[in-house]
Amino acid sequence: MTDRPLRTAGDALRWGSSLLREAGLGDPGREAAILLCSVLECDKAVLYAYPERKLSPGEASLFRRLIHRRCARVPLQYLTRRQEFMSLSFHVDERCFIPRPETELLVEEALKHLGEDGAGKLAVDLGTGCGCIAVSLAYWCPNLRVWACDVSAAALQVALRNCRAHKVQDRVRLVKGDLWAAFAGWDLEERVDVVVANPPYVSEEELASVQPEVRHEPPEALVPPVYATEFYRRIFEGAAVALKDGGLLLVETAPSLIPQLEPILRQQPVWMEVRVLRDLAGAERALAATRECRRCVERPPRCRELGCGRWTATIQTRHR
Ligand code: SAM
Ligand code: GLN
Repeated sequence: MTDRPLRTAGDALRWGSSLLREAGLGDPGREAAILLCSVLECDKAVLYAYPERKLSPGEASLFRRLIHRRCARVPLQYLTRRQEFMSLSFHVDERCFIPRPETELLVEEALKHLGEDGAGKLAVDLGTGCGCIAVSLAYWCPNLRVWACDVSAAALQVALRNCRAHKVQDRVRLVKGDLWAAFAGWDLEERVDVVVANPPYVSEEELASVQPEVRHEPPEALVPPVYATEFYRRIFEGAAVALKDGGLLLVETAPSLIPQLEPILRQQPVWMEVRVLRDLAGAERALAATRECRRCVERPPRCRELGCGRWTATIQTRHR
């Protein structure tokens, strides 16, 4: 079977689909077509309209290699090297986590908070991976500045490539480091409008039962280095310092972690308007919280009597 010559696009599609089907993949025809399109750099419509299109020996052998790797459950996105996120095309490869559609929820909430332009505003993205959150925030909010970190230097190389591809490299600063420690000396205190994070939140036990594709992604992108709630606590603590009064914290998480994480935010007086956000499948997928006014936290009665010059619209509404 493997030695069958692949002379035309039609041959290749038939051969590729049958191998993927034998390997137990759910949508073999579609995946074979996507892989062939990436080899031939054409649209699916072209492929179906001209099945007699000739393949060069190089194209045929590249396609064979991709089909075999897909049979070994390498994620399709690592083979095509593309994933769409927030209507933008991102380069992805084995160095980084593949953006998931549910993460768009965080970006949409952040954009609502930032307004149209983002002039004078600053967002922080913790664990940026391929840069999908940082780049799409900067792209859709054309004067926003974004600071993004990751522990993985390899992932940051991918993020830089994506910043350049979408021409936001002047407004997105990438830094290697462990959560907030990455920004040590950057004077972040009370300067940030939005903190967004999609940290690793899969447990070692869960990793054993995920789809085989997920195990090809970098382990540090999936499993937190410490107990998940402890990792989120670090994110929350740093965010409470970095955010301006009225600034927004947005974190993605597993639905199973919400009952542990939501009370942490609710119990701390630095947070208000704690909300659980559901993804398109209806699962509880993210938490949002607004940074309480510092004077209210420290000296509530006086602040309320005198009014606080630094109150944002949200805070003013809440205390009215
Ligand atoms: N933000 C990207 C997205 O939403 O697709 C990537 C998210 S991925 C689930 C988590 C990312 O956090 C990975 O890129 C991983 O390298 C990074 N990471 C893990 N531990 C970290 C730490 N202690 N500090 C900073 N980044 C970390
Ligand atoms: N949602 C991812 C999965 O499919 C996990 C993402 C994460 O750990 N942040 O496993």
